[in-house]
Amino acid sequence: MLPSNSRFQRLSQAALSRSLFLQLAVGALLGFPPSAAAAPNSDLAQNGGAPGTKDAAASDRMGAILVSQFGPVKIHSYLSPLDGFHVNTQMIEGPTAVVIFDGQLLLPYADEVASYVQTLGKPVDRIILSHAHTDHWSGLQVLTERFADARVFALDGIADQLHARGQARLDSFRPIYGDRIATKVTVPTEIIAEGVQRIDGITYDFKRFVDAESDLQLAALLPEQKVLMAFDLVFSPNEHAFTVVDHFDHWMIVLEQLKVLQGYDTITIGHDTPVHRSAIDSTITYIRRAKEIHAASADAKTYSESLKAAFPDRQLASMVDFSAKLLYAARR
Ligand SMILES: [Zn+2]
Repeated sequence: MLPSNSRFQRLSQAALSRSLFLQLAVGALLGFPPSAAAAPNSDLAQNGGAPGTKDAAASDRMGAILVSQFGPVKIHSYLSPLDGFHVNTQMIEGPTAVVIFDGQLLLPYADEVASYVQTLGKPVDRIILSHAHTDHWSGLQVLTERFADARVFALDGIADQLHARGQARLDSFRPIYGDRIATKVTVPTEIIAEGVQRIDGITYDFKRFVDAESDLQLAALLPEQKVLMAFDLVFSPNEHAFTVVDHFDHWMIVLEQLKVLQGYDTITIGHDTPVHRSAIDSTITYIRRAKEIHAASADAKTYSESLKAAFPDRQLASMVDFSAKLLYAARR
Protein backbone atom coordinates (compact mmCIF):
# COMPACT_ATOMS: atom_id res chain seq x y z
CA MET A 1 0.00 0.00 0.00
CA LEU A 2 1.17 3.49 -0.77
CA PRO A 3 0.36 6.42 1.47
CA SER A 4 -2.71 8.48 0.65
CA ASN A 5 -0.72 11.61 1.39
CA SER A 6 -1.28 13.93 -1.55
CA ARG A 7 2.42 14.63 -1.85
CA PHE A 8 2.72 11.09 -3.10
CA GLN A 9 -0.16 11.23 -5.49
CA ARG A 10 2.18 10.89 -8.40
CA LEU A 11 3.67 7.77 -6.94
CA SER A 12 0.22 6.31 -6.36
CA GLN A 13 -0.73 6.97 -9.94
CA ALA A 14 2.45 5.34 -11.03
CA ALA A 15 1.80 2.34 -8.80
CA LEU A 16 -1.43 1.72 -10.67
CA SER A 17 0.67 1.20 -13.74
CA ARG A 18 3.02 -1.08 -11.93
CA SER A 19 1.67 -4.38 -13.17
CA LEU A 20 1.91 -3.05 -16.68
CA PHE A 21 5.46 -2.00 -15.97
CA LEU A 22 6.34 -5.45 -14.72
CA GLN A 23 4.88 -7.06 -17.82
CA LEU A 24 7.01 -4.77 -19.90
CA ALA A 25 10.07 -5.49 -17.83
CA VAL A 26 9.60 -9.21 -18.35
CA GLY A 27 9.16 -8.52 -22.02
CA ALA A 28 12.44 -6.66 -22.03
CA LEU A 29 14.11 -9.55 -20.27
CA LEU A 30 12.76 -11.97 -22.83
CA GLY A 31 14.24 -9.88 -25.56
CA PHE A 32 11.33 -7.90 -26.94
CA PRO A 33 12.61 -4.97 -28.94
CA PRO A 34 12.99 -1.85 -26.81
CA SER A 35 10.45 0.04 -28.86
CA ALA A 36 7.76 -2.54 -28.07
CA ALA A 37 8.43 -2.21 -24.37
CA ALA A 38 8.72 1.53 -24.38
CA ALA A 39 5.42 2.85 -25.65
CA PRO A 40 3.04 2.00 -22.79
CA ASN A 41 5.86 2.54 -20.33
CA SER A 42 5.83 6.20 -21.23
CA ASP A 43 2.62 6.45 -19.16
CA LEU A 44 4.77 5.85 -16.15
CA ALA A 45 7.50 8.11 -17.31
CA GLN A 46 5.05 10.96 -17.80
CA ASN A 47 4.45 10.88 -14.07
CA GLY A 48 8.05 11.91 -13.72
CA GLY A 49 9.96 14.89 -14.89
CA ALA A 50 9.93 18.36 -13.51
CA PRO A 51 6.92 20.46 -14.52
CA GLY A 52 7.79 22.36 -17.61
CA THR A 53 10.73 20.09 -18.34
CA LYS A 54 10.51 18.40 -21.68
CA ASP A 55 11.70 14.89 -21.09
CA ALA A 56 12.26 13.83 -24.65
CA ALA A 57 13.81 10.53 -23.67
CA ALA A 58 10.75 9.32 -21.74
CA SER A 59 9.12 7.48 -24.63
CA ASP A 60 12.26 5.44 -25.28
CA ARG A 61 13.18 4.82 -21.67
CA MET A 62 13.59 1.22 -20.51
CA GLY A 63 13.26 1.97 -16.80
CA ALA A 64 10.54 3.93 -15.02
CA ILE A 65 10.79 7.23 -13.20
CA LEU A 66 8.61 8.31 -10.32
CA VAL A 67 8.70 11.81 -8.89
CA SER A 68 7.47 13.06 -5.52
CA GLN A 69 7.59 16.70 -4.57
CA PHE A 70 8.04 18.37 -1.19
CA GLY A 71 8.02 22.12 -1.80
CA PRO A 72 11.37 22.94 -3.41
CA VAL A 73 12.64 19.38 -3.00
CA LYS A 74 11.91 16.56 -5.42
CA ILE A 75 12.76 12.91 -5.12
CA HIS A 76 13.15 11.28 -8.53
CA SER A 77 13.28 7.48 -8.39
CA TYR A 78 14.60 5.54 -11.38
CA LEU A 79 13.44 1.92 -11.28
CA SER A 80 15.24 -0.48 -13.58
CA PRO A 81 13.57 -3.23 -15.58
CA LEU A 82 13.56 -6.74 -14.15
CA ASP A 83 16.87 -7.81 -15.67
CA GLY A 84 18.45 -4.99 -13.65
CA PHE A 85 16.85 -6.44 -10.48
CA HIS A 86 14.30 -3.61 -10.22
CA VAL A 87 17.03 -1.63 -8.51
CA ASN A 88 16.44 2.03 -7.75
CA THR A 89 18.57 5.07 -8.23
CA GLN A 90 17.27 7.94 -6.12
CA MET A 91 17.92 11.48 -7.30
CA ILE A 92 17.31 14.16 -4.67
CA GLU A 93 16.82 17.48 -6.42
CA GLY A 94 17.30 20.51 -4.20
CA PRO A 95 17.24 24.22 -5.07
CA THR A 96 20.59 24.24 -6.84
CA ALA A 97 21.89 20.68 -7.22
CA VAL A 98 21.15 16.98 -7.43
CA VAL A 99 22.39 14.24 -5.10
CA ILE A 100 22.36 10.73 -6.59
CA PHE A 101 22.04 7.61 -4.46
CA ASP A 102 23.20 4.34 -6.06
CA GLY A 103 24.26 3.60 -9.58
CA GLN A 104 22.38 0.63 -11.08
CA LEU A 105 23.56 -2.84 -12.05
CA LEU A 106 23.56 -2.50 -15.84
CA LEU A 107 25.34 0.24 -17.74
CA PRO A 108 22.46 1.06 -20.12
CA TYR A 109 20.21 1.79 -17.15
CA ALA A 110 22.86 3.94 -15.49
CA ASP A 111 23.08 5.79 -18.79
CA GLU A 112 19.34 6.44 -18.65
CA VAL A 113 19.75 7.80 -15.13
CA ALA A 114 22.49 10.15 -16.31
CA SER A 115 20.42 11.37 -19.24
CA TYR A 116 17.46 11.99 -16.97
CA VAL A 117 19.57 13.92 -14.44
CA GLN A 118 20.79 16.13 -17.25
CA THR A 119 17.18 17.11 -18.05
CA LEU A 120 16.93 18.57 -14.53
CA GLY A 121 19.44 21.23 -15.49
CA LYS A 122 21.33 21.24 -12.20
CA PRO A 123 24.84 20.00 -11.36
CA VAL A 124 25.34 16.70 -9.56
CA ASP A 125 26.68 17.66 -6.15
CA ARG A 126 27.69 14.13 -5.22
CA ILE A 127 26.94 10.44 -5.68
CA ILE A 128 26.34 8.32 -2.59
CA LEU A 129 26.56 4.52 -2.61
CA SER A 130 24.27 2.81 -0.10
CA HIS A 131 26.09 -0.54 0.15
CA ALA A 132 28.57 -2.77 -1.65
CA HIS A 133 26.24 -5.09 -3.57
CA THR A 134 26.97 -5.02 -7.28
CA ASP A 135 23.42 -4.16 -8.35
CA HIS A 136 23.89 -0.78 -6.66
CA TRP A 137 27.37 0.21 -7.89
CA SER A 138 28.29 -1.41 -11.23
CA GLY A 139 26.72 1.49 -13.14
CA LEU A 140 28.70 4.07 -11.18
CA GLN A 141 31.20 3.59 -14.00
CA VAL A 142 28.80 5.45 -16.30
CA LEU A 143 27.68 8.04 -13.76
CA THR A 144 31.24 9.01 -12.87
CA GLU A 145 32.12 9.29 -16.55
CA ARG A 146 29.16 11.51 -17.29
CA PHE A 147 29.43 13.57 -14.09
CA ALA A 148 33.18 13.80 -13.79
CA ASP A 149 33.06 16.53 -11.11
CA ALA A 150 30.81 14.60 -8.74
CA ARG A 151 32.51 13.11 -5.69
CA VAL A 152 31.52 9.55 -4.75
CA PHE A 153 30.73 8.89 -1.09
CA ALA A 154 30.03 5.77 0.97
CA LEU A 155 30.23 4.63 4.56
CA ASP A 156 33.67 3.90 5.98
CA GLY A 157 34.44 0.30 5.05
CA ILE A 158 32.58 0.16 1.73
CA ALA A 159 35.65 1.13 -0.31
CA ASP A 160 37.61 -1.69 1.34
CA GLN A 161 34.87 -4.19 0.41
CA LEU A 162 34.93 -3.03 -3.21
CA HIS A 163 38.71 -3.16 -3.39
CA ALA A 164 38.64 -6.70 -2.01
CA ARG A 165 35.73 -8.23 -3.91
CA GLY A 166 34.43 -5.80 -6.52
CA GLN A 167 36.29 -7.12 -9.55
CA ALA A 168 35.38 -10.74 -8.76
CA ARG A 169 31.74 -9.73 -8.48
CA LEU A 170 31.84 -8.02 -11.89
CA ASP A 171 33.54 -11.06 -13.38
CA SER A 172 30.78 -13.31 -12.02
CA PHE A 173 28.10 -11.20 -13.71
CA ARG A 174 29.89 -10.87 -17.04
CA PRO A 175 28.92 -14.29 -18.45
CA ILE A 176 25.27 -13.30 -17.94
CA TYR A 177 25.33 -9.66 -18.95
CA GLY A 178 28.37 -9.26 -21.20
CA ASP A 179 29.22 -5.65 -21.91
CA ARG A 180 26.18 -4.40 -20.00
CA ILE A 181 28.07 -4.92 -16.74
CA ALA A 182 30.87 -2.56 -15.66
CA THR A 183 34.39 -3.26 -16.85
CA LYS A 184 35.97 -1.65 -13.79
CA VAL A 185 35.16 -1.16 -10.14
CA THR A 186 34.24 2.40 -9.18
CA VAL A 187 35.47 2.82 -5.63
CA PRO A 188 34.06 5.67 -3.51
CA THR A 189 36.78 8.12 -2.54
CA GLU A 190 34.98 10.01 0.21
CA ILE A 191 33.50 8.80 3.47
CA ILE A 192 29.99 9.77 4.41
CA ALA A 193 29.76 10.61 8.08
CA GLU A 194 26.95 9.32 10.23
CA GLY A 195 24.60 11.89 11.68
CA VAL A 196 22.89 15.03 10.51
CA GLN A 197 24.21 17.16 7.68
CA ARG A 198 22.75 19.62 5.23
CA ILE A 199 23.39 19.29 1.52
CA ASP A 200 21.99 21.96 -0.78
CA GLY A 201 19.66 23.13 2.00
CA ILE A 202 18.22 19.65 2.58
CA THR A 203 18.67 17.95 5.96
CA TYR A 204 19.86 14.34 5.91
CA ASP A 205 20.36 12.11 8.92
CA PHE A 206 22.71 9.34 7.77
CA LYS A 207 22.65 6.05 9.65
CA ARG A 208 24.95 3.04 9.52
CA PHE A 209 23.66 -0.50 9.93
CA VAL A 210 25.58 -3.78 9.92
CA ASP A 211 24.69 -7.43 9.31
CA ALA A 212 21.33 -7.08 7.60
CA GLU A 213 20.72 -7.67 3.86
CA SER A 214 24.40 -6.79 3.46
CA ASP A 215 27.31 -6.53 5.89
CA LEU A 216 27.23 -2.75 5.87
CA GLN A 217 24.29 -0.59 4.83
CA LEU A 218 23.60 3.13 4.75
CA ALA A 219 20.14 4.49 5.45
CA ALA A 220 19.10 8.14 5.36
CA LEU A 221 16.31 10.02 7.07
CA LEU A 222 14.99 13.19 5.48
CA PRO A 223 13.34 14.67 8.59
CA GLU A 224 11.78 17.67 6.85
CA GLN A 225 10.23 15.52 4.13
CA LYS A 226 9.46 12.66 6.55
CA VAL A 227 11.00 10.16 4.16
CA LEU A 228 13.10 7.19 5.20
CA MET A 229 15.55 6.03 2.55
CA ALA A 230 16.01 2.45 3.71
CA PHE A 231 17.64 0.95 0.61
CA ASP A 232 17.94 -2.83 1.03
CA LEU A 233 16.97 -2.94 4.69
CA VAL A 234 13.30 -2.98 3.68
CA PHE A 235 11.69 -4.84 0.78
CA SER A 236 8.36 -4.42 -0.93
CA PRO A 237 5.55 -6.72 0.23
CA ASN A 238 5.15 -7.49 -3.47
CA GLU A 239 8.65 -8.85 -4.04
CA HIS A 240 10.98 -11.43 -2.56
CA ALA A 241 13.73 -9.99 -0.38
CA PHE A 242 17.36 -10.85 -1.17
CA THR A 243 18.69 -13.21 1.49
CA VAL A 244 22.28 -13.56 0.35
CA VAL A 245 23.98 -13.78 3.75
CA ASP A 246 23.09 -15.46 7.04
CA HIS A 247 22.24 -12.31 9.01
CA PHE A 248 18.59 -13.17 9.57
CA ASP A 249 18.54 -12.49 13.33
CA HIS A 250 20.37 -9.19 13.20
CA TRP A 251 18.45 -8.00 10.16
CA MET A 252 15.24 -8.40 12.19
CA ILE A 253 16.80 -6.38 15.04
CA VAL A 254 17.65 -3.60 12.56
CA LEU A 255 14.09 -3.61 11.25
CA GLU A 256 12.76 -3.25 14.79
CA GLN A 257 15.05 -0.20 15.14
CA LEU A 258 13.53 1.31 12.01
CA LYS A 259 10.03 0.73 13.38
CA VAL A 260 10.82 3.00 16.31
CA LEU A 261 11.29 5.97 13.98
CA GLN A 262 8.00 7.83 14.28
CA GLY A 263 6.39 9.79 11.48
CA TYR A 264 8.29 8.18 8.62
CA ASP A 265 5.32 6.68 6.86
CA THR A 266 6.96 6.66 3.44
CA ILE A 267 10.00 4.55 2.75
CA THR A 268 12.04 4.51 -0.42
CA ILE A 269 13.66 1.11 -0.89
CA GLY A 270 16.47 -0.40 -2.90
CA HIS A 271 14.17 -2.36 -5.19
CA ASP A 272 10.65 -1.56 -6.36
CA THR A 273 8.46 1.49 -5.76
CA PRO A 274 8.28 3.28 -2.38
CA VAL A 275 6.37 1.55 0.39
CA HIS A 276 4.37 2.42 3.48
CA ARG A 277 6.01 1.75 6.85
CA SER A 278 3.95 -1.43 7.14
CA ALA A 279 6.52 -2.93 4.76
CA ILE A 280 8.91 -3.07 7.73
CA ASP A 281 6.59 -5.64 9.33
CA SER A 282 6.13 -7.59 6.13
CA THR A 283 9.91 -7.69 5.69
CA ILE A 284 10.29 -9.02 9.26
CA THR A 285 7.70 -11.71 8.49
CA TYR A 286 9.64 -12.68 5.37
CA ILE A 287 13.04 -12.78 7.11
CA ARG A 288 11.68 -14.81 10.02
CA ARG A 289 10.27 -17.41 7.62
CA ALA A 290 13.46 -17.42 5.53
CA LYS A 291 15.49 -18.05 8.69
CA GLU A 292 13.30 -21.06 9.55
CA ILE A 293 13.57 -22.42 6.03
CA HIS A 294 17.33 -21.88 6.01
CA ALA A 295 17.69 -23.83 9.25
CA ALA A 296 15.68 -26.70 7.80
CA SER A 297 17.21 -26.77 4.31
CA ALA A 298 20.43 -28.65 3.58
CA ASP A 299 21.02 -27.08 0.18
CA ALA A 300 20.25 -24.05 -1.94
CA LYS A 301 17.67 -25.81 -4.08
CA THR A 302 15.58 -26.90 -1.09
CA TYR A 303 15.82 -23.43 0.46
CA SER A 304 14.81 -21.70 -2.74
CA GLU A 305 11.86 -23.97 -3.48
CA SER A 306 10.56 -23.76 0.09
CA LEU A 307 10.86 -19.98 0.22
CA LYS A 308 9.04 -19.57 -3.08
CA ALA A 309 6.32 -21.90 -1.85
CA ALA A 310 5.99 -19.93 1.39
CA PHE A 311 5.49 -16.64 -0.48
CA PRO A 312 3.84 -17.64 -3.75
CA ASP A 313 2.45 -14.19 -4.49
CA ARG A 314 5.75 -12.32 -4.30
CA GLN A 315 7.44 -11.33 -7.53
CA LEU A 316 11.14 -11.67 -8.43
CA ALA A 317 10.95 -15.42 -7.74
CA SER A 318 13.87 -15.90 -10.12
CA MET A 319 15.98 -13.85 -7.73
CA VAL A 320 15.36 -16.36 -4.92
CA ASP A 321 17.52 -18.88 -6.77
CA PHE A 322 20.22 -16.25 -7.06
CA SER A 323 20.02 -15.42 -3.34
CA ALA A 324 20.05 -19.09 -2.34
CA LYS A 325 23.14 -19.75 -4.40
CA LEU A 326 25.08 -17.00 -2.62
CA LEU A 327 23.66 -17.87 0.80
CA TYR A 328 24.73 -21.51 0.56
CA ALA A 329 28.05 -20.71 -1.12
CA ALA A 330 28.90 -18.52 1.88
CA ARG A 331 28.12 -21.39 4.25
CA ARG A 332 30.84 -23.62 2.90
ZN1 LIG B 1 19.97 -4.49 -3.81
